[in-house]
Amino acid sequence: MIGRVTVLVENSAGRRGLLSEHGLSFWVELGEKKILFDTGQGKVLRENAAVLGIPLERTDAVVLSHGHYDHTGGLADVLHRARGIPVYAHRAAFGPKYARNFDGTSRDIGMPFMDEEGIREHNELVFVDGPVEVMEGLRLTGPVPRETDFEDTGGAFYTDPRCTQPDELPDDQAAYLETPAGTFVLLGCAHAGVVNTLRYIRTLTDNRPIHTVIGGTHLVNAGPERMDRTVEELRTLDVRRLLPCHCTGFQAASRLLNEFPAQYMVCPTGTILEIDK
Ligand SMILES: [Zn+2]
Ligand SMILES: [Zn+2]
Repeated sequence: MIGRVTVLVENSAGRRGLLSEHGLSFWVELGEKKILFDTGQGKVLRENAAVLGIPLERTDAVVLSHGHYDHTGGLADVLHRARGIPVYAHRAAFGPKYARNFDGTSRDIGMPFMDEEGIREHNELVFVDGPVEVMEGLRLTGPVPRETDFEDTGGAFYTDPRCTQPDELPDDQAAYLETPAGTFVLLGCAHAGVVNTLRYIRTLTDNRPIHTVIGGTHLVNAGPERMDRTVEELRTLDVRRLLPCHCTGFQAASRLLNEFPAQYMVCPTGTILEIDK
């Protein structure tokens, strides 16, 4: 076994005692090393870790897929317990982030409870601006090139409260591991587009097959063309295990389940996935 991933925070809860919230966090164990990929909103991280027997104080590194609150809100909690560890994020994850509401007003969806100085007080902040290895084969994509003509960030995201400056989410990144079976991919929200992300990971791995994809795909607002072309690409990529969750959206998840009945798996909080099977 190379390692395993435990779903620590997700929009649904899978068993007794676990809590859910709109957010995402994966606990990645690779041999003795433990990496926290995203931290959820911070409302259920500690409770779920306790129920699942996950020692947050033994975290060796934290990775932030991007700066939205539902991935970064638990950071303060983790860093309080695990001093001196590195936090990997793109610089833009710390910038202002807003979403436009239907009535034209906006809401702050940036990183709460923590900022660059807060991290640097007791920990190390590693700015990611290209592919980088976090540890033992776990790599980050850094910014993902936006090449498809059918994908966008998936929402009305801005860097100012008046919603005049679109936020292209340059901070969005994914993590991946090469295994004998193929590449194992962890997505945050895939604001760069799930197809852009998977294609980029293929170029970073000598075109090795992608075996598993787990995480948010942000297809919640995807129209028919984006869905059709995403399905087409996923079929071409021949992904063996597909675990779209969090911000995938019910309609997109239903479509993916119908298109890939043998590959699709649900992954509520508490799901444990072996990395190399
Ligand atoms: Zn997001
Ligand atoms: Zn999200």
